[in-house]
Amino acid sequence: MITTELRTADHTNETGGILLGHHTRDAVTVRHAGTPGPAAVRTPTYFLRDLAHAQTLADKAFTTDRSVWVGEWHTHPTGRPAPSARDTATYRQLLDDTELGFHSIVSLIFAYQEGRWTGTAWTFHRQRVTPVELTVSRMGGPM
Ligand SMILES: [Zn+2]
Repeated sequence: MITTELRTADHTNETGGILLGHHTRDAVTVRHAGTPGPAAVRTPTYFLRDLAHAQTLADKAFTTDRSVWVGEWHTHPTGRPAPSARDTATYRQLLDDTELGFHSIVSLIFAYQEGRWTGTAWTFHRQRVTPVELTVSRMGGPM
């Protein structure tokens, strides 16, 4: 899903989607990655998911394998493969929204460097941003 989206992504505007999966003791397994959705806002330096589209994907994933919304992925076509100040602010807002019930958010960021996309993963807790190891498993599902 992400690889398809990256292949077709233009290198001008950011794209992205939600990540759905399972929290285990000290890891998060991502099973599904969403597409941006028709109402997503995409600019060279900013991406905002289509909330209705995200909700539909989340409902579907929950029915399929009890996956829940664990985070987001997006691209930095011209930026660094690390969360921007704006990304950090967005994740803080999600964490502060008690209705959403996040205790952490996984952020996958893909930057276009030297002719290819490089991915990095981060977890956001209330006051901390931690780089995490990205383990890609083909067994896991339609990533
Ligand atoms: Zn960003």
